Amino acid sequence: MYGQMMQMPLTISSLIEHAGRYHGKTEVVSVNTTGGIERLDWGTIEANSRRLASALDKLGLSKGDRCATIAWNNRRHLEIYFGVSGGGMVCHTINPRLFPEQLVYIINHAEDQILFLDETFLGVAAKLGDHLKTVKHVVLMGPRNDDAAKMVPGLLFYDDLIESGDASYEWPEIDENSPSSLCYTSGTTGNPKGVLYTHRSTLLHTLGGNQPDGLAISAKDCVLPVVPMFHVNAWGVPYIAAANGCKLVLPGPGLDGESLVNLIDGESVTLALGVPTIWMGLLGALESTGSKAASLTRTVVGGSALPPSMIPAFRDKYNVELIHAWGMTETSPLGTMNQLLQHHNSLPPEAQAEIRLGQGRPPYGVELRIVDDAGNILPNDGETQGALQIRGHWIVDSYFGMEENALTKDGWFDTGDVATIDSDGYMIIRDRAKDIIKSGGEWISTVELENTAIAHPAVANAAAIAARHEKWDERPVLLVVKIPDTTLTETDLLAFYEGKIAHWQIPDKVIFVDELPIGATGKVLKNKLRDLYGDVLIVDGAK
Ligand code: AMP
Repeated sequence: MYGQMMQMPLTISSLIEHAGRYHGKTEVVSVNTTGGIERLDWGTIEANSRRLASALDKLGLSKGDRCATIAWNNRRHLEIYFGVSGGGMVCHTINPRLFPEQLVYIINHAEDQILFLDETFLGVAAKLGDHLKTVKHVVLMGPRNDDAAKMVPGLLFYDDLIESGDASYEWPEIDENSPSSLCYTSGTTGNPKGVLYTHRSTLLHTLGGNQPDGLAISAKDCVLPVVPMFHVNAWGVPYIAAANGCKLVLPGPGLDGESLVNLIDGESVTLALGVPTIWMGLLGALESTGSKAASLTRTVVGGSALPPSMIPAFRDKYNVELIHAWGMTETSPLGTMNQLLQHHNSLPPEAQAEIRLGQGRPPYGVELRIVDDAGNILPNDGETQGALQIRGHWIVDSYFGMEENALTKDGWFDTGDVATIDSDGYMIIRDRAKDIIKSGGEWISTVELENTAIAHPAVANAAAIAARHEKWDERPVLLVVKIPDTTLTETDLLAFYEGKIAHWQIPDKVIFVDELPIGATGKVLKNKLRDLYGDVLIVDGAK
C-alpha cells in the first residue's frame, strides 16, 4: 500500500540539536569544582558537544568505544554526555565514591578508552594508573593546568580538546539501537554489572518519563538535578532538559543544604531532584537560613523510600510538592511516579496525602507485576506482597558483556524489590527482597519500621535489619542515629511504635549509633549492618 510516514532514528544528537536550535539562548548554569559559577546556554553546550565529538574522532576513537567520566554535575559533563553519545561512542559514567578496586574492575571490564576527570578526582586517577588496562587518554575537565600535568603522565585538557574540535562537525547518522551510555549497578554483593542503554531506549525514556504525570519538565522550568550524573544518567534529566529546553542548574560538588538553598534562591529553581537524604539536608538549611525557597514548586524524590514525615514538612511551610518516584539502574531509571488520578479529586486531603506516600504508577512505556516464589502472578489488591517485576521500552534485557539475558522465561526483569500493587496500578515498595525480615513465617517491612522511627522528633536516621533469632528465625533490630542534644531511650522509641504497627512487628532491640554506613549511591549498607549486628539477639539470649 502507498503512503508512509518519515522514519528518523531516535538519537541523542537529535536532543541536543533541538536544544541548540530552539532553546539556544536558554541558560545552563554550572558550579565548577572550585565553587565558581559559569553561565552558558544550550547553544554553547550544543556547539561544544559537536567540537568534542570531532576532537574525539581526531584522537582516534571509534564508534562504540567506551568513554569514561568521573565527574560532578557540571556543564563539561553535560557536553560529554552529548558529544560522546552524539558522536556514536558510549558515555560511561562512573561513581567516584566506589572503592579503588571497584573502579579498576569497572574501567577494565568496560574497556574504557578514555577517562574524563574533574580536578577533584585527579589523585584517584594518578593512583589507578598502572592498573587500567585499556585507557589510552586521561583528560582533565578544565583548562590547561601545569601542576595537574605533573601528576598524570600524558594528561590532556578538556578545554584544549574543545579548541581543537571542528566547529562545523556534523553529527553522524547512527542506528537507534546502538549503545549510547553505560552505567554499572552499585553491587553491594558480587561484582557490579553494567547496564548498556541505547539511543532508542534513552529517547523513549525521555519522552515516556516526562509526561504530565511524570517529571513534567517544561521550557518554563528551571531544573536542579541534585541526583548525580553518575547515577543512572541523573535519572535522565540531562536528556529531558535538552528535549524541553528548560533552564538547567548543575550544582557541582557542593550538595550540602546551604549550597542548595543558595542555588535555588539565586537561580529561581522551580524543580529539584534527588534522594531523600538530600532533602533532609535542605530542610535543615531552610530552617537555619530562613529561606522560603519561594521559586521551588516541586521536588522529585527517589532512590530510596521517602520518609512520610517529609511530605508535610515541605508542603506546609514551603509550599513545595514532593513527588515520590521509584526506579533502578536497570530501568533507566523511571519506573513509577506518584501523581493522583481524576477520581482522587473528591478525596479529603489526608486520604490524598496517604496515596502519595507510595512509589506511584508506571508511566506509558513500562508495565509492572508482582509474583510469588513459584512465579505465579499475584493480585493487584494493594495488600498481597510479591516480587516486583517490570518490562518495557527502557528496561535492561542483558547486562553488558554477558551473553545470557537477565529476564524471567516470559521476558520480565525481576527487580529484587518486594511490593504491593493496587487496582489503579499504584505500587508500594515494602522492602528489598534481601532486607525484608522473616519472623516466624511472617514478613516485617524494614521500610515501615524505619519510616516510623524517622518520624520521631529525636531521630535523625534509622535502619532496621533482620537479626538471627533462635525461635523466630529473624527478628527486627533497629539502629538509630539521634539528633544531637536530644535525649531518647530504647524504651521511649519502642513505646512510640505502640498503636502504629502490629505489636509483633515492633523491634526487639534498639541500638544507638553515631552514624549509619552509607554506600556509593547514598543508600544505607544493610549487609554491613547485618554483618555487625546480625547476632545481637543470639548473644543476648532469645526472647
Ligand atoms: P539503583 O540501581 O542503585 O538505583 O538502586 C535501585 C533500588 O533502589 C531499587 O531496586 C529499590 O530497592 C531502591 N529504590 C529506588 N527508589 C526507591 C523508592 N522510591 N523507594 C524505595 N526504594 C527505592
